[in-house]
Amino acid sequence: RAKAAGGNRFALADAEADARAITRHGLTTALPTALDRGEFFIEYQPLVHLGDGSVHGAEALVRWCHPQHGVLGPDRFIPLAEHTGLIVPLGRWVLEESVRQANFWQERHTDGGPLRINVNLSPTQLHHPRLVAETVDVLERSGLEPGALCLEVTESALIGADDDLLKPLRQLAEMGVDIALDDFGTGYSNLANLRRLPVSVLKLDRSFTQGMQQHPADPVDLKIVEGIVSLAHSLDLAVTVEGVETGAQAEQLRQIGCDTAQGWYYARPGAPDRIHSLLLADAV
Ligand code: C2E
Ligand code: MG
Ligand code: MG
Ligand code: MG
Repeated sequence: RAKAAGGNRFALADAEADARAITRHGLTTALPTALDRGEFFIEYQPLVHLGDGSVHGAEALVRWCHPQHGVLGPDRFIPLAEHTGLIVPLGRWVLEESVRQANFWQERHTDGGPLRINVNLSPTQLHHPRLVAETVDVLERSGLEPGALCLEVTESALIGADDDLLKPLRQLAEMGVDIALDDFGTGYSNLANLRRLPVSVLKLDRSFTQGMQQHPADPVDLKIVEGIVSLAHSLDLAVTVEGVETGAQAEQLRQIGCDTAQGWYYARPGAPDRIHSLLLADAV
């Protein structure tokens, strides 16, 4: 019996591995042409000021509407796009499209102050020799001021980064583009190293806010977040928290002194119209 069960388990594991391989293969072959076929779209999630609940900006999050598999999240295809190199044209498209969108919002809400657009950059894009030139080009063609753009780079992509890698980010930062360190706190980077990086925003990873979801909140997580916020502020960095799912969390994070927040408590990522109506309503 044990043997039979073991055998079934292996058969099941094989079947799952096959299914994954097929899916992966299917995605790999469909990915290169997906951009030309217009199968990608962007959802926007608001970033909110913890102080008054007003909209600070939005993060652009790409999705793939696959003809057979339906809507796929970035975790399903960004690693593949990185691997195949498609990330470069895909990333360029996301930047162009979301900057155009941000400029549209900006022109309709000029009294609301500058609205920020956050765009994720993958490591391959970071290494691409035309990153600066293309970003400048996209901004110039759209008319959006550089100060309204924030490029998010993960902490892990910058670990051990040498000057060659940091130079384009410095150039962008000098133009006024904000650089955010995404998923901060997951990459075991040396905190002292932060000073060396041309970043102006820390995006605290969702794993910290998760510990605050319990009642009462995990006191250790609270202390860690407090410590990071005070360190960040002493280095003149703004702090955004990811993954805020409850009002209690939002209140605690506000008291600790976090600047902006993002999460399902405010809004899930959604169609651009959603941001438009939030801006009209002046708060989330
Ligand atoms: P990220 O940049 O850290 O984005 C935040 C992720 O957290 C998003 O997942 C968002 O939908 C999710 N999220 C937001 N609020 C909450 C919350 O309250 N609770 C929970 N549980 N989750 C929340 P998503 O959209 O699946 O994106 C995953 C990752 O894919 C992103 O993580 C980013 O690293 C990457 N990504 C997305 N769009 C792009 C892109 O255009 N280019 C590149 N290179 N990477 C992208
Ligand atoms: Mg991000
Ligand atoms: Mg993040
Ligand atoms: Mg994250």
